[in-house]
Amino acid sequence: MERTFAMIKPDGVRRNLTPEILARIVRKGYRIVGLKQMVISRETAQAHYAEHKERPFFGELVDFITGGPVVAIALEGENAILGWRGMMGATNPANAAPGSIRADFATTTGENVTHGSDSPESAERELGLFFSEGELL
Ligand code: ATP
Ligand code: MG
Repeated sequence: MERTFAMIKPDGVRRNLTPEILARIVRKGYRIVGLKQMVISRETAQAHYAEHKERPFFGELVDFITGGPVVAIALEGENAILGWRGMMGATNPANAAPGSIRADFATTTGENVTHGSDSPESAERELGLFFSEGELL
């Protein structure tokens, strides 16, 4: 069974979208194997988004993701990596498929409510960054 790392970003938590997003995950049939609300340190944020460190929006991205509590989620299910990316929709909400989380709840690329790992390698790395072995049940 495949595992992926999902996150409700600070905008989603601030807007009280946590229950709605968790309900969608449960209805889809994924198993939640890890869940915690936390504030991300700058160090963890920089590691999490290391692939973007040369991009012009990197500083803003780190400020945003550390600017309030997030909900870190480890999901398990068949094809969970691509499946969760599909549920989120495209990075820019303007391009997100109707009915996806970003289409339904976001208007800007910078604050797009959720994160999802984009490959098996990212999923393993990100799960390791946010959860210790004993926290995944
Ligand atoms: P995430 O990694 O957060 O799940 P993603 O994989 O859909 O999103 P990435 O290309 O990895 O998109 O970009 C990471 C995040 O950086 C985006 O979710 C968005 O918040 C921010 N971002 C990406 N491109 C831009 C941009 N052009 N301007 C501002 N912010 C951006
Ligand atoms: Mg990404």
